[in-house]
Order: sequence, then structure tokens, then C-alpha cells
Amino acid sequence: MRTPIIAGNWKMYKTVGEAVDLVKALLAGLGSGHGREVVVCPPFTALYAVRPLLVGTGIALGAQNLYHEREGAFTGEIAPGMLVDVGCRYVIIGHSERRQYFTETDAGVNRKLKAALAAGLRPIMCVGESKPQRDAGEAEAIVTGQVGAGLVDISAAQMAEVVIAYEPIWAIGTGDTATPADAQAMHLAIRHTLGDMYGDAVAQSVRIQYGGSVKPDNIDELMAQPDIDGALVGGASLKADSFLRIVHYQ
Ligand code: PEP
Repeated sequence: MRTPIIAGNWKMYKTVGEAVDLVKALLAGLGSGHGREVVVCPPFTALYAVRPLLVGTGIALGAQNLYHEREGAFTGEIAPGMLVDVGCRYVIIGHSERRQYFTETDAGVNRKLKAALAAGLRPIMCVGESKPQRDAGEAEAIVTGQVGAGLVDISAAQMAEVVIAYEPIWAIGTGDTATPADAQAMHLAIRHTLGDMYGDAVAQSVRIQYGGSVKPDNIDELMAQPDIDGALVGGASLKADSFLRIVHYQ
């Protein structure tokens, strides 16, 4: 049984005060017994302020990125242990915006994954194809290639800590969602790749989120797909009512 996981990626939005207000509103509306794991990933600057509000609640704290070294002269970077220190349980790695604007590569994603796991963080590893790649019929090869390259030398035991987020780049922030059937097909392809790498038991246990313009009005259909185990939500996670509706999908 895979516990569904709904994560909010707040990107470069929310001051400290706004982040605290949003967390308070989420906690007020979350309720209990929904059987879903909920994660919020505020910007680095708000992590320390929201942490005490989340302790002992049903919402886990995540970060949006990290650097793969433990410490050192790396101006502007954040070490995995620093995220643990500030209360993070999860970290998003290899988001397409990082790959696109900050030249992150599969090898870099793999280094970050190893560093996160070594520090005790649960990585949410993002993969996804561009529109030209999809139009050229290359989507599955690109995405399964990213999965294989990102997971080099990650053991079967470590996979218990890893979440994969399939996020087609053309669907992120565009309002253009993959159809539930197309998303399901890609999730199944990812699961087959995991099966080839780790065997069926591990493949069946890894949670694969969908991301890309997930909204209150499409979450139910997406979550009805057998291989979609949750959502990584950008824009719709910035308001309590829309994120709570997504968490409480039918
Ligand atoms: C994201 O940033 O991971 C994302 C999926 O964004 P949006 O939901 O806004 O498309």
C-alpha cells in the first residue's frame, strides 16, 4: 500500500509572515484521518519560522533544493545537514526550473540525491520532458532515462526514502495538464524502469507524484489513476483553500 503524498512547492513566493499565515490556514483546515501525507516546501528563508508550527502536526516540512557538499566555501548554497537542522524531512531535487535556469544535470541530481539520503532527508526527485521532446515521441525515453541516471548507485533499501515526481515541463505553471491517461502511462513506464533496476517489490512500493498545473478541478481524476500516488503542486499550493481541496481529493 503506497500512502499518497501531496506536496506544495511554494517556489520563490511568500515572505516569512505570509508563509506563517499560510501554514496556520492549512493547519486549521487540514483535519485528521485523511490518510494522506502532506508536505510544504517554503523558500529557505521561511523554513525556520514555520518549523515550530508544524511540529507534531500532519504536515511535514520540505526544502526546494540543496547543495551536495556537507559544508565548505560554497557561497550562497545550503547543505543537507542545515535542512535537517531546520526541521526539513523532504527536499525537492532536480525540479525542471533548476534544470532549465540553473543548468542542473542528471549527474548533479544524482549527487544531490546521495547527499540528501546521507543526511537523512527524503528526496522528491523531479523528472519530465519538454514539449518538443513529447512532440517528437521521445517523452518516455527522456523521462525513464532521467530516472535511471538520477538513481545511479542508489540502493534498493534507500529507495524506501525516495519519491519521484513526474512533471512534464510543458504542464508546469501553464494551466496545461497531461491527461490522466497520459500521466498514468508515464507513471507506469517509470514503475517499469524501477522494476528493471530494483525488482517488482521495490517498484510497487515507490511513490510517484504527478506535477504540472494540478488544481482542485483535476486532482480527483489524476488521483484515480492506479500509478499516480500523489501530486507536487506549485501555483495551487499558494492558497490554503485550493491546496486543501487538493489534499482532500475524492
Ligand atoms: C511545480 O512547480 O512543481 C509545479 C507543478 O507547478 P504548477 O503546479 O504551478 O504547474
